[in-house]
Amino acid sequence: MKVITTIKEMRAAIADLRREPSGSAKGIGFVPTLGYLHEGHASLLKRAREDNGAVVLSIFVNPLQFGPNEDFERYPRDSDRDLNVARQEGVAIVFMPDVQEMYPQRMLTSVAVSGITDILCGSSRPGHFDGVATVVSKLFNIIQPDRAYFGLKDAQQVAVVQRMVQDLNMNVEIVPCPTLREEDGLAMSSRNVYLTAEERRQALVLQQSLNDAEEWLKRPGIRLGELKEKVAAQISTAPLADIDYVEIVSYPSFLPLEEWEHQALDIVGDKQILIALAVRFGQTRLIDNRILSLEGLDLKGALSHV
Ligand code: AMP
Repeated sequence: MKVITTIKEMRAAIADLRREPSGSAKGIGFVPTLGYLHEGHASLLKRAREDNGAVVLSIFVNPLQFGPNEDFERYPRDSDRDLNVARQEGVAIVFMPDVQEMYPQRMLTSVAVSGITDILCGSSRPGHFDGVATVVSKLFNIIQPDRAYFGLKDAQQVAVVQRMVQDLNMNVEIVPCPTLREEDGLAMSSRNVYLTAEERRQALVLQQSLNDAEEWLKRPGIRLGELKEKVAAQISTAPLADIDYVEIVSYPSFLPLEEWEHQALDIVGDKQILIALAVRFGQTRLIDNRILSLEGLDLKGALSHV
């Protein structure tokens, strides 16, 4: 496994890989991360390994995607452990540049996806998705992968990257991957290490509220506005939970519930909803979501008095 820190060496290593039968025939799969790897990241690496001849992993805590009062400085880092995970997962190249290497001068260029970034994490973390789209563009340009793997735990991020790739004709296939959870249902996240034991216990309410939402949606006559309120009320039963947002959007178009009209949804063609949560427990902001089918639902009734 090669560990590379400079863009110049990275380009040379990719060129070498392309000359090898494995890299050229089955392609190069890419998994971008902020590091502090867990089994969720490992599942992306496994999938990339299955689909491709070689896998490139990037580990870069990207300052552009953190707001001024967010956790950039204290974001957990452990490169030795990360490299062991990468080795176990059969990664060919780990790209771990420092900030100076990625941003040697003030960036005058940024990649911004509009519309779907006005809501959810886009509105509660201003500038976040510009930072994501910009760094992912840079990484795609440096690595030029055939496929790139992203977790649906960050469903809005997947949508933003997919749209960026479509709009800018980037020659890479985006592969969305399912969310891996701890045994008790908490979505795996590098940020889970920040949680105290009590916060960790109460954070289970996220997964529980999404499970309940799935059941509530099956009830005849349920309205989506009511569903949103029920989920928020369920989360608020945890005394340490401080809700950033609870939102329902159409999926995969990310049309906010309030803007839906039967007509519009028909045009968009969305057949699913995404229930998205962002909730603080102490200093730690966690996100989770569930994608549910609208099949069999009386949409007109479900949308009444939204
Ligand atoms: P991060 O290091 O948090 O930026 O995550 C890197 C990639 O791993 C992103 O595409 C995430 O969506 C994905 N990821 C993070 N947590 C999970 C999880 N629990 N299950 C699956 N993928 C995940």
